[in-house]
Amino acid sequence: VAKRLSGKTILITGASSGIGRATALEFVKTAPDVRLILTARRQEQLEELKTEIGSLSSAAEVLVKKLDVSDPADIKRFWVELPKEEWKDKLDILVNNAGLVKGLEHVGDIAEEDVNIMYNTNVTGLINMTQAVIPLFKARDAGTVINIGSIAGREPYPGGSIYCSTKAAVRAFTESLRKELVNTRIRVAVIDPGQVETEFSVVRFRGDKSKADAVYAGVEPLTGEDIAEIVIFVAGRRENVVIADTLVFPSHQG
Ligand code: NDP
Repeated sequence: VAKRLSGKTILITGASSGIGRATALEFVKTAPDVRLILTARRQEQLEELKTEIGSLSSAAEVLVKKLDVSDPADIKRFWVELPKEEWKDKLDILVNNAGLVKGLEHVGDIAEEDVNIMYNTNVTGLINMTQAVIPLFKARDAGTVINIGSIAGREPYPGGSIYCSTKAAVRAFTESLRKELVNTRIRVAVIDPGQVETEFSVVRFRGDKSKADAVYAGVEPLTGEDIAEIVIFVAGRRENVVIADTLVFPSHQG
């Protein structure tokens, strides 16, 4: 796997915390000379991650770019600003990880703003990022798109109508794309995690840390690293091996 990922250029959305952050570190631990484009809205966290990566490997190249995937104009700006020969044309792997839940209200009570935030980030942002890389990958007949979905996309629950439907959309989008790209060397995969302890629940409960902590009390959730290991497994197969669909649970989750 180290050999297969050596020197690869990888773009991760939502790399400032949780699964995205752990994925960046796992790529470096697996192949110390990877080239990472780390994106999220919080640039300070990305800079800290870059420093941490620097202490792990002097061979890794890291480009930090502030990017709000929920804003199509910001996505356009990002691709225009990304140095073409050095980074854009060399891109091998896109990890579409940025995503969030805003609130758990029932359908009649959900604020329009929260619907838009979830759809624009989890669905439209992921689609726009993918649309930007497909021509690049097609030009070289190579590349991997890994989308982070959720068990929520398969098992909707009350209060999760918007989030669950965004993740069902990620699933359907990924599968359509994979079928469109059959007979190419472009791989497309979705990874659906169960419960992972990250900042996810803090965001879900709008910053209420005690409510977020209560979610994980008495259970042993997955960690960002657990999911990162799966991302590396999927990305690190031989080029004609597509792990199209992966569901990952902690052992307590039924
Ligand atoms: P975190 O909250 O720790 O990480 C979410 C990441 O997404 C952050 O880096 C955040 O960065 C980024 N993000 C959010 N909105 C935007 C945006 N508009 N533009 C760019 N980046 C954005 O949670 P997780 O690591 O758990 O979440 C990662 C993915 O995993 C999500 O897609 C989530 O839906 C999915 N998932 C999580 C599960 C869990 O139990 N934790 C279970 C199943 C799936 P910033 O705020 O700096 O922009």
